[in-house]
Amino acid sequence: MQKKVWQWTGLNEVTSTTAERGQPGTGEAEIRIVSIGICGTDLHIMSGHAGFGVPPLPLGHELAGVVERIGPGVDGWQPGDRVCIDPLIGCGVCRECLAGSKHRCAQSGEIGLHYPGGWQEYLVAPAANLYRLPDAVSFEEATQAETLHCCLGGIDKLDIRLGCHAAVIGDGPTGLYYVQLLKAAGASKVTLFGMRDGRLELGRRLGADVTVNLRSPDAAAAEPEAAETQDIAIDAAGNEASLKLCIDLLKRGGQLLLFGLPGHPILADIQAVVLKELTLSGSTNAPQVWPRVLELMASGSVQVKPLLSQRYPFEELDLAIAFARNEPDEAVKIIVSHS
Ligand SMILES: [Zn+2]
Ligand SMILES: [Zn+2]
Repeated sequence: MQKKVWQWTGLNEVTSTTAERGQPGTGEAEIRIVSIGICGTDLHIMSGHAGFGVPPLPLGHELAGVVERIGPGVDGWQPGDRVCIDPLIGCGVCRECLAGSKHRCAQSGEIGLHYPGGWQEYLVAPAANLYRLPDAVSFEEATQAETLHCCLGGIDKLDIRLGCHAAVIGDGPTGLYYVQLLKAAGASKVTLFGMRDGRLELGRRLGADVTVNLRSPDAAAAEPEAAETQDIAIDAAGNEASLKLCIDLLKRGGQLLLFGLPGHPILADIQAVVLKELTLSGSTNAPQVWPRVLELMASGSVQVKPLLSQRYPFEELDLAIAFARNEPDEAVKIIVSHS
């Protein structure tokens, strides 16, 4: 049995092909992929700058679909079950894996980053990586559980008190999710800093109390006033300027969550970090939070739909990638779905 596949085949290149459908082995399930989120990481890998992934490879790590077949030894799943997929796979036997922190496993890798991903009709994955979708969560929305779980893992590392003030730097999807999570966690005033008016407007719709366009002349004038006003700052941009802004904005004793990836070493005012007694946390994946992500989506505490900006059929995945690359301001989150 053949399946349709899109592969990353070389520098910024995707190619459509077919491949033999895999057989789910012990502990595995075959998923019929329904929706795929296009992520900045996909573009990063395709540009050859990510330092991992070897073409030809189907990418795609933001995935939702339906259980098609189950392998031996799989309990609790039936063909037809609606699922999303945690793409992270650990060795399963090391200390970190056994402690529930498979993202810290020295052998870990991700579906769609290191292993074949969901740019195909069917994908065989470990059944342990599946999460059941609540009825209220659509396949399109469920693709975002992966992004949201990373953000929620970061939120869990902060001590967020009701009524606190928090700043988010970065108006990409993760910044927009962080705004919502901070509000849900009880922050009374969330300020979103970004560079695109459309995204900032969306941020206000999603709960940001104040937005600042860092490209506007007013922003630079307002900065001294904003210094030392925030209990929490989240760097969802990951560059030297965003890190500096976070450190400036934080009150003494404040908490800084480092989330965006600079991609190379950057300078930071460590003296200010020490003298202000800031707490710094880094955060990536968080395998233990997946069930709560689905709760947040199903209950409406976090809204995903307003971020879904373009939709493409699977047959036009190449066009979706091209749009994401050429129209970064327009493309908040592109979803590719099978008809
Ligand atoms: Zn992603
Ligand atoms: Zn391990």
